[in-house]
Amino acid sequence: MKVVVVGSGPAGLYSALTASERGAKVSLIEKSDKLGGTCVLYGCIPSKAMMFPLSLSYSSSKFGKTIDFSYGELEGFARNVTQRVSKGVEYMLESAGVEVITGRATMRSGKINVNGQTIDADSVIIAIGTNKPQFPGTIASDDLHFLERDFQSVLLVGGGVGGVEYGWLLNMAKKRVTIVEREDLLLPGHDLDLRQSVTSFFKRLGIDVRTRSEAKIGDDVKINGRSEKFDIVVFTFGRRPSLEGFEEIKGDKWVNVDEFMRTNVNNVYAAGDVTGSFTAHEAIHKGIVAGLNATGEKRTYDGTAVPKILYTHPEIAYVGSTEGKCVKLNMTEVVRAVTERSTEGFIKVCADETGILKGGVAFSERAEDIISVLAILIRLRVKLEDAKNLIFPHPSYLEGLWEALRRFKS
Ligand SMILES: Cc1cc2nc3c(=O)[nH]c(=O)nc-3n(C[C@H](O)[C@H](O)[C@H](O)COP(=O)(O)OP(=O)(O)OC[C@H]3O[C@@H](n4cnc5c(N)ncnc54)[C@H](O)[C@@H]3O)c2cc1C
Repeated sequence: MKVVVVGSGPAGLYSALTASERGAKVSLIEKSDKLGGTCVLYGCIPSKAMMFPLSLSYSSSKFGKTIDFSYGELEGFARNVTQRVSKGVEYMLESAGVEVITGRATMRSGKINVNGQTIDADSVIIAIGTNKPQFPGTIASDDLHFLERDFQSVLLVGGGVGGVEYGWLLNMAKKRVTIVEREDLLLPGHDLDLRQSVTSFFKRLGIDVRTRSEAKIGDDVKINGRSEKFDIVVFTFGRRPSLEGFEEIKGDKWVNVDEFMRTNVNNVYAAGDVTGSFTAHEAIHKGIVAGLNATGEKRTYDGTAVPKILYTHPEIAYVGSTEGKCVKLNMTEVVRAVTERSTEGFIKVCADETGILKGGVAFSERAEDIISVLAILIRLRVKLEDAKNLIFPHPSYLEGLWEALRRFKS
């Protein structure tokens, strides 16, 4: 059996590995000369390489000490790690026996063409991700890791997840940060307690947060009609797939797929951001499902309880829905947080009337762990009453999750 995968991001990588593990002969086509896609080259990986040293600065400042990193040093960490992880992707594909072809793929009648040739295959997996927003006079979040130029002031257009993550990063890197957001709080569409706390925290950090505001970028930058000057302007939202060359696949903004990751074209699957999800872990799992089904399995993608993390400090993490009955615990009540002077933020857990856990938010240190554990409880449909009996270590941040669960009335 022959499978062709287009794209080497998380979705393409795991589609290819899965199909290959199931005995298919796999070719993966990537238009870039480096493997790994947005996540490895411009997104998850370089941003975290820059944020970790800044988290050390943030933590040490709580104890009256300063650790400084220049922007150039941070970019160096990003460059170094993207090369390393991209090589890792190359190695994984090579070890799995996947043939990698460099070139821009297009599709006609369900067949993939690249470098002037048509590749015959039983199944095709489209994992082409999205393109960064491109507006004259602006850059995208992707570009912030490799600017290689001096700048002091930065305008972030949009106070959603991108604006918040990079707002924190740039503020910690000692840049003058302005965030313009149309709505009255940062993080539109998210839990209200989270939005209020993060907006207030960002203002206390000294970030110029302009809510109920509009930025217009033309010959100059206007905020609410007034001209202002910034060294750089970053568009933090508006990624879209480029379906040029794939017109026969149906979709509006995103490619339409069913729960088997099948497109409207026979034997053509799609996975990852191109299908309208925005995290690498969703891309990976959609890729695995596509890889399985492209090689004869019948597996559905289950997107319940996917944890989402913003790697600021405190971290911002959430899962599921925060409607229904919720318990909110301030970090001042978590003894480990007190010992580490990390009492900013809160943990909130929500359940329905029958004691089924529905979701939660953590704006705290280790929010990543807290929400990942909550996500597991939700995914495995653990009842609130059973979750209360789980034993977490003391003193730990996870105890905050347990305490929130404990406070639900039986
Ligand atoms: C700044 C930033 C930070 C992010 N941080 C995080 C994070 O911390 N955690 C997280 O989970 N997610 C994060 N994301 C999102 C994450 O990067 C994406 O969800 C993930 O990369 C999607 O994977 P994918 O495989 O669907 O697509 P991509 O990673 O975009 O890969 C698509 C690949 O397809 C290739 N391609 C496209 N068209 C063609 C063609 N016609 N022929 C051949 N090749 C083609 C592209 O070159 C690319 O390599 C971030 C994104 C950005 C922009």
